[in-house]
Amino acid sequence: MPIRPKNCAIALATAVSLCTALVSTAAIAAESVNVYSYRQPFLIDPIFDEFTKATGIEVNTVFAKKGLVERLKSEGKNSPADILLTSDFGNIHAAVGADILQPVNSDVLNANVPSEFRDPDGLWFGLTNRARLIVVSKDRLTDNRPARYEDLANPEYKGKICTRSGKHNYMVALTASVIAHAGADEAGKWLNGVKDNLARKPQGNDRAQVKAISQGECDIAIINSYYMGAMLDDEEQTTWANSVDVIFPNQEDRGTHMNISGVALTKASKNRDNAIKLIEYLSGPDAQAIYAEVNHEYPINKSVKPSALVQSWGEFNYDAIPLADITEHRGAASRLTDEVGYDN
Ligand code: FE
Repeated sequence: MPIRPKNCAIALATAVSLCTALVSTAAIAAESVNVYSYRQPFLIDPIFDEFTKATGIEVNTVFAKKGLVERLKSEGKNSPADILLTSDFGNIHAAVGADILQPVNSDVLNANVPSEFRDPDGLWFGLTNRARLIVVSKDRLTDNRPARYEDLANPEYKGKICTRSGKHNYMVALTASVIAHAGADEAGKWLNGVKDNLARKPQGNDRAQVKAISQGECDIAIINSYYMGAMLDDEEQTTWANSVDVIFPNQEDRGTHMNISGVALTKASKNRDNAIKLIEYLSGPDAQAIYAEVNHEYPINKSVKPSALVQSWGEFNYDAIPLADITEHRGAASRLTDEVGYDN
């Protein structure tokens, strides 16, 4: 999986040597930057294209769903990567643990990214926000809907809840946030209660839970907010999305749990100035508007409006506890998930 210019994404056999040549040129050209990305090409390519148009700096990307942190670690200072782009805070946390990042001190980033969504030392920055929502069946759960994450442990919802694996990053982060607010004992009781209410063994991704509601398997699910947009944009999944109502949990107390996609500068970066330009660009209004429209995420930059769909859900209060404080509890959250046998 070599670093490739974007126009090599669908390289045919005959074009491989051309792409290799481009890579060599990119590697020695001053005006380039190399990105390892957990974020998908459909989302980031349009943003990188705009960046290149605006600055003349070529962006080369390696996309992978897994293993980029491990790859950066094994490549060490020889890594060609300048930037790590992640789809979740869990990957950032792993990168911090692997000691492969270097801090960025940027007034632009400090202005564009609220302090709760960036590292106090500048090791990482959030780029987009997503709310961890409760969704409920429009038709079957019309009364006594859950209003807090804590409510999901109430016996009245026995056999009504579907979630993905409790060990997935999104779920671990939510459990870690419950620990951060209530302590490990309370969080353990809560998680055990949610497990007791599951309609089926945890399986599938977030969207699969909404599909299960639309098919009558359960009435309640927990999903990231942008998947509502993704389902409505997909003909085959529109009926899933339309079978549920969206609830922003914990509006009367701490607010809804948020996660981020993020960005960081690698320790190995050889194109540091260009990399910082790109990171700053990603937090700016043009890139933030593309994130909002293409993927229905909340812009991290509060000067940019969410998509029309996301705006239609209205304003809400979010849990502004620093992500760094939630992260401390990820290990404990993962252990609790095993202890209560959440996925069994
Ligand atoms: Fe996702």
